[in-house]
Amino acid sequence: MIIVMSPGSPKAQLDRVVSRINSLGLRPHVIEGTERTVVAVIGDERSIEAAGLETLPGVASVMPILAPYKVASREVQKEPTVVRAGSLVIGGTSIAIIAGPCSVESRPQILDTARTIFRAGATGLRGGAFKPRTSPYSFQGLKEHGLELLKEARDNTGLAIVTEVVASEDVSLVSKFADVLQVGARNMQNYRLLEAVGRSHLPVLLKRGPAATLEELLLAAEYILDAGNRQVILCERGIRTFESHTRFTLPLATIPWLHARTHLPVVVDPSHGTGHSSLVTSMSAAAIAAGADGLILEVHPDPKNATSDGGQSLDFSAFENLMDVCRKVAEAVGRSIKNCEMNPVEEIALPGMPR
Ligand code: PEP
Ligand code: MN
Repeated sequence: MIIVMSPGSPKAQLDRVVSRINSLGLRPHVIEGTERTVVAVIGDERSIEAAGLETLPGVASVMPILAPYKVASREVQKEPTVVRAGSLVIGGTSIAIIAGPCSVESRPQILDTARTIFRAGATGLRGGAFKPRTSPYSFQGLKEHGLELLKEARDNTGLAIVTEVVASEDVSLVSKFADVLQVGARNMQNYRLLEAVGRSHLPVLLKRGPAATLEELLLAAEYILDAGNRQVILCERGIRTFESHTRFTLPLATIPWLHARTHLPVVVDPSHGTGHSSLVTSMSAAAIAAGADGLILEVHPDPKNATSDGGQSLDFSAFENLMDVCRKVAEAVGRSIKNCEMNPVEEIALPGMPR
């Protein structure tokens, strides 16, 4: 149910509504919009109906939330959610670029990448320290050492760190280093993990499972929102189809479909979505044209020798070219991407990284 408060109703009336909802064992989510304050009431529908909430002072109307997802729904919040993690802002008119390697491999690799993408206008640095790999024999990530390297990259550039957490028991460790917690495609329906990141104070980038419907994606987001974390970013990263020319099939209709139904920002991952670096720039441009609020891209100083996902990773000059293309498309659709960074970042001696 959505309780719409009368315009200008005093805070005491809102407090009374909230405490009544709590006393009924239901969960209130207060959403203060620019035009109206609403309270989404989550819990057993019959007890909500029997509660007589419409009779409380300050309540203008009570109506059902029709969508199966509740707090994520546009019915509850009309204004788009803007997620902020330091310099990384996702939602609103600017388009956020998050870039970096699939896996953190070494200090020179991550620092060199961080400085390059920062100069090109990215505001977020991605990089997996805990890697969910299809084979148990593949590189599993540098784990805590990888997190320390990401922190050094943030200290050096100011980029916000976006990194994956693969298990609930790792949330507190990863949260010490990350600015945004990434929940990977394989974990989209790991409900205990969703609840754990929902209890964290950090924004969450939630990737669509390769076999998940958009309704399932929104219901997964709902777990995080219902646990108290409103800072959720949805990510389309491609789904599994019969097509084998690309690694996954990247559906861009996802973007306007989600924007019509949820206030949460939507980013696109054309690296995993295509699996081929040669396709990433075109699909990035298309995603921006279709209304994406950001891109998450794999970039590596030496893609051929990457420990994971080298075939879909852009080298530095391809990334700089992508940024030029995407800036033009963003401008054409009334959005903007941060300009190239003119302030030099401190140079740290990096032994022997190929450029
Ligand atoms: C990744 O971002 O490197 C990753 C593993 O992505 P996904 O969960 O979308 O497969
Ligand atoms: Mn990857």
